[in-house]
Amino acid sequence: MTGTHVSFSADDYRVRMERAAREAHAAGLAGLLIAPGPDLVWLTGYAPPAATERLTLLVLTPDREPVLVVPALEAPDAAEAAGASALALRDWTDGKDPYATTAELLPGSGRFGISDNAWALHLLALQGALPDSSYASLTEVLPMLRAVKDAAELELMTAAGAAADAAFEQIRQVAFGGRRETEVAADLAALLRRFGHEQVDFTIVASGPNGANPHHEAGDRVIERGDMVVLDFGGLKDGYGSDTSRTVHVGEPTDEERRVHDLVRTAQQAGYDAVRPGAACQDVDRAARAVIADAGHGDRFIHRTGHGIGVTTHEPPYMIEGEERPLVPGMCFSVEPGVYLPGRFGVRIEDIVTVTQDGARRLNNTTREMVVVD
Ligand code: ZN
Ligand code: ZN
Ligand code: ZN
Repeated sequence: MTGTHVSFSADDYRVRMERAAREAHAAGLAGLLIAPGPDLVWLTGYAPPAATERLTLLVLTPDREPVLVVPALEAPDAAEAAGASALALRDWTDGKDPYATTAELLPGSGRFGISDNAWALHLLALQGALPDSSYASLTEVLPMLRAVKDAAELELMTAAGAAADAAFEQIRQVAFGGRRETEVAADLAALLRRFGHEQVDFTIVASGPNGANPHHEAGDRVIERGDMVVLDFGGLKDGYGSDTSRTVHVGEPTDEERRVHDLVRTAQQAGYDAVRPGAACQDVDRAARAVIADAGHGDRFIHRTGHGIGVTTHEPPYMIEGEERPLVPGMCFSVEPGVYLPGRFGVRIEDIVTVTQDGARRLNNTTREMVVVD
C-alpha cells in the first residue's frame, strides 16, 4: 500500500477490530492473523512500507486485546499508528523467533483466519510453531468483513468516484486519433492524480480489436478514426477506491457499433435496477446478463458483472452466478457488463454503485451514452 490515508479515529479502528474478532468467533475461528495490506490498513490504519521477510502480524482473538507483532526496527512507525488505533505492540529483534512470539498470543490449537496476501514463508513457519492449528483464507471465511461501508467511508467512496468522473470529463476532450494507447493511458493516470488520487491502479485504453480483450491494458497501437475505445481506470483517493469504464468512439460510429453500445448500456441499467437490500449478489449478474443473452450475445459477455471495492479496487463480494449472499445497505461494488467481439471491438460500461435503504445510488455519473471523441 502506498499513499496517504484519511485518519479515522481510534474508536473507529477499535470498533472494526472488535467486529472482526466477533465475526471470527461466530465463524468458529480461534482468531485472525492479519498481514500488512488492505486488511491491516482497514483494521488499524497502519501501512508498513512493504510486506517483508520480517514478520508483521496483527493478532485478533476473541478474549484478548489486539496485539501487533512487529519487527523492532519498524516499531517506532508502528507505535505512531498504534497510537491512533489503541493497539498493543509486541516487537521482536533480529535473531529472535517471531513465530514463537506469535504462538504465545494464540491458543495452542484451533482454526485461524489469515489474510489472503500473507506470505507463505510466514504461514509455513506459524504452522511449524503451532502444529495443531489450521488456517483459512480470510476472504473465504469473512468475505463481508470490509464490504459494508459506514457513513465516513461512503463519503470517501463518493469522492473517489467523482474524481474518476472528473478525469473522464477531461479525457473526452483530448484527441484520441493518431495517438498511441499508452499516451492516452498516461494522460488518464495524470488526470486521476490531478483530481486527488494518490494511487493509480489501472488505466486501460483498449482500442479497436484490443477492446475485445477485457484484459488488454494499453499498448503501442495507434488509435485510428473509426475505433471504439474501452477506457477503464481507477485507483485510490484518500485510501478509497474508484473504478469506472466508458467506451468512446473516434468519429461517427456505425449503426452496429451503436447497437452494441446501446445493448451494454441497457444491460448496465438492468444490473443497476436489480440492486436493492435483500437481493442476492447473483441477481445483479443475472439481470445484466439476461439483457445481453436475449440479444444473442450471451457468449460474448465473458466475465462476472461486478466486484466489491473499498480500500482496494477489487475485492469480495463478487456479482456472479452462485453468489447468494444478500445485498446490504452500505455495500459498494461495480456493475460492469461488456460485449467483446473478437478481432473487431469491445464495449464495457462500469459504474460503482452503493446499496441504499431502498435501492441503489451510482458513485459514477458521467453519461453512459456513447461519447464521440476526435
Ligand atoms: Zn467504428
Ligand atoms: Zn474497471
Ligand atoms: Zn471493475
